[in-house]
Amino acid sequence: MMQVFMPLNFLGFVYREMKGAMTNIENMFGLLQVRPKVADPDGAAELQVTKGEIEFRDVRFAYSETREIVRGASFRVPSRQKVAIVGSSGAGKSTLFKLLFRFYDVSGGEICIDGQRIDRVSQTSLRRQIGVVPQDTVLFNTSIFENVRYGRIDASDDEVWEAIRLAYLAEFIAELPDKENTRVGERGLKLSGGEKQRVSIARALLKQPPIMVFDEATSSLDSHSEKVILQAIRDISHHQTTLVIAHRLSTIMDADRIVVLDRGRVAEEGSHSELLALGGLYAHLWEVQQQEREDAPGVP
Ligand code: ATP
Repeated sequence: MMQVFMPLNFLGFVYREMKGAMTNIENMFGLLQVRPKVADPDGAAELQVTKGEIEFRDVRFAYSETREIVRGASFRVPSRQKVAIVGSSGAGKSTLFKLLFRFYDVSGGEICIDGQRIDRVSQTSLRRQIGVVPQDTVLFNTSIFENVRYGRIDASDDEVWEAIRLAYLAEFIAELPDKENTRVGERGLKLSGGEKQRVSIARALLKQPPIMVFDEATSSLDSHSEKVILQAIRDISHHQTTLVIAHRLSTIMDADRIVVLDRGRVAEEGSHSELLALGGLYAHLWEVQQQEREDAPGVP
């Protein structure tokens, strides 16, 4: 009897949790605004990641026939390096990220990971290898600990704690009223943008993916949050290939390479100092953002 009761009891728990989280799940689909239209090819192979090198080769893409958004973008993200994609608003940065995750198929060129075209491997195997930290994190109506575990539901408690530590969340959790059991989300404690992003980093780390993609939050974070998040990204990029879509240049000055996107094409590429010395689009964007910071004291 107990053998029947236990799974039923567990299902009841899952049902209650799911019900509580339902509004959040709806929000999540709303936020993503994406319905994948891609299909696996027959007999799709599993993506085999050895080094975690990403390559965009002459990639083209349009959401609609009238306007091409990505217009022949080529760049490489070498294994265990940190590459940042920058460019003015609407340049196509987030679109590149959606293409890498294969929410859409490219209309020209190809995207490869360790030499394998991503449209020739199964979507499951592709997405398993990429940890994503989105701009906006969806929190479920449960404890902060379970919110992190959501990154890989079969993770052990020790593994969840390790991810929490790597995302610099441990100190924050120690100060919460019910520690790791504190409920967060809609009917629990409201977390700040930076705290939510750290939950998201911990979730992504739990997958232990060889590739991590960060879509930096557009809204400014408080300077403490920004500092710890940048440190977490720095730690991670020593072990994993890291791609950062950056809206604020001050956060990616230390990237190994910076790819400057302009209207769907790579306009410039190099390190922060190389690009400043070039005196082109990056130098101009840098100047504009420095001016904005001076005009808005308190913005990190
Ligand atoms: P930002 O820095 O403002 O986030 P971005 O460089 O990330 O901008 P994208 O979000 O990639 O830019 O958008 C590039 C262009 O594609 C924009 O003109 C945008 O309006 C358009 N676009 C984005 N998503 C869609 C979509 N789902 N359907 C149609 N057009 C879209």
